Amino acid sequence: MAEKQLKVVVLGAGMAGILAGIKLQEAGFTDVTLYEKADRVGGTWRENTYPGLTCDVPSHHYTYTFERNPDWTRHLPPGPEVQAYFERVSRKYGVDKLTRFNEEAVSANYQDGRWQLAFRSGLRDSADILICATGVLHQPQTPDIEGLHDFAGALFHSARWDHSVPLDGKRIGVIGNGSTGVQLVSALAGRAAHLEHYTRTPQWIMPVENGHFTEAQRAAFRDPQVLAEAMDFEGYNAAVNAYTEAIIDEHSEGAKNMAAACLQNLEQSVADPQLREKLRPTHRALCKRLIFSPDYYQAIQHPNAALVTEGVERIEARGIRTADGQLHELDIIVLATGFRPDVFMRPMRISGRNGADLEALWADHPKAYLAITMPDFPNLFMLNGPNGPVGNYSLIDIAEHQWHYIEQLIARLRSGQASEICCHAQALERFEHERTEAAKKTVWFTGGCNSWYLDSRGVPASWPWTYARFLEEMAAPRWEDLDCVAG
Ligand code: NAP
Repeated sequence: MAEKQLKVVVLGAGMAGILAGIKLQEAGFTDVTLYEKADRVGGTWRENTYPGLTCDVPSHHYTYTFERNPDWTRHLPPGPEVQAYFERVSRKYGVDKLTRFNEEAVSANYQDGRWQLAFRSGLRDSADILICATGVLHQPQTPDIEGLHDFAGALFHSARWDHSVPLDGKRIGVIGNGSTGVQLVSALAGRAAHLEHYTRTPQWIMPVENGHFTEAQRAAFRDPQVLAEAMDFEGYNAAVNAYTEAIIDEHSEGAKNMAAACLQNLEQSVADPQLREKLRPTHRALCKRLIFSPDYYQAIQHPNAALVTEGVERIEARGIRTADGQLHELDIIVLATGFRPDVFMRPMRISGRNGADLEALWADHPKAYLAITMPDFPNLFMLNGPNGPVGNYSLIDIAEHQWHYIEQLIARLRSGQASEICCHAQALERFEHERTEAAKKTVWFTGGCNSWYLDSRGVPASWPWTYARFLEEMAAPRWEDLDCVAG
């Protein structure tokens, strides 16, 4: 049977969209368009430009498997280098040429076997296959704090950094101690005249080395074999597997070791017993995403830095009023308060066949079979879709495996064996039931904390099984779970 000429549209030109663009070209698709709402590729790495931005996956593991990067300067990749990497890869593989920038999709409707797309600019397009690679954490969470707009100084979210505001010698308040807030405090201590870190829930903080690669090392890494050796796949996989197992079984050896390493870090790094107690976590380790930091405890003990745990009562023109009645005068307030994790492609409106509507399907919480497909949304596949993240694995790795699954569905569409593919409603229902039950056994659920992992029902919105099970599921579709309309 001759291959069908199918048109593919990819929404989003971040890490996952670039991956789709590369793989589709490799597979010989000639009609591929990426749409990107911003003016550059890069997704989260384009949006986040805050001082200290670093990825906590070891640099050489934070790349596509087919495009390693010998040039990382640090053991953990600095944000600007990650952005530069994605820009370079997108140019190298011609993905930038397939991308229409400054085009935000507002709706996608499945009509007569095709996706009809509308964009904010008024542009319209259509596609046989729609890949949603719109990212997970991209809509900033603005906290519900009284007086947010009364502040007379500069106030912005960590993902909307205002680079026109000078930082040196200023009085800066950072609200939030997730990965972002911790990195920010490490970067700003010593620069600010006074730095206050407003926290509600003490974090588990794992010490990590973040050294520099020498020029000689970077030159040597040009040899793929040298690089592969340096990457120590065995050691790396053992570490991330231990993390994933610790999430599933909070009594595992790995869980105990990680908690012990964090506590030792706290005991050894923080001299003042009062400060140490304020920094001591009260929930179980790994309940929130573990923070990896080489220098936060040092930063918070800087003479110009202070930890404020009294609780933010409200924001006033001159600063932050804490629950104990004290006014903390500030020039700059940074909201490191995280993201809305349940948005995905939205506010885009998506309607499938038989009257299916994304808002209705996701009324409770976002869901998708294996994080990839939804019933009655044929030929729409997601990368890093709902409940997709696996433990602490790099999302690049996850997306590559998800792509491997998706390309098998696409191959069937292309060969004409099927004209429409999505999961059966019962398959999603069964998957969701099993996933929810398993998720309730993870430390994200039992660990006694609140976090962005939890959906509106309080159920962890993540892959609750092992990495091995994820690989197995991605290796080959269970076709009986998929609704394939004959071509
Ligand atoms: P986050 O982990 O969701 O942390 C948000 C922080 O804001 C928490 O400390 C939270 O306190 C606080 N907060 C929220 N609302 C508040 C309010 N009304 N008043 C006071 N405090 C408030 O967000 P994030 O730090 O941006 O990180 C999100 C995720 O992005 C990470 O988990 C990670 O997956 C990714 N990320 C990774 C890296 C990295 O690679 N190292 C860096 C940055 C981000 P509570 O804990 O008390 O709720």
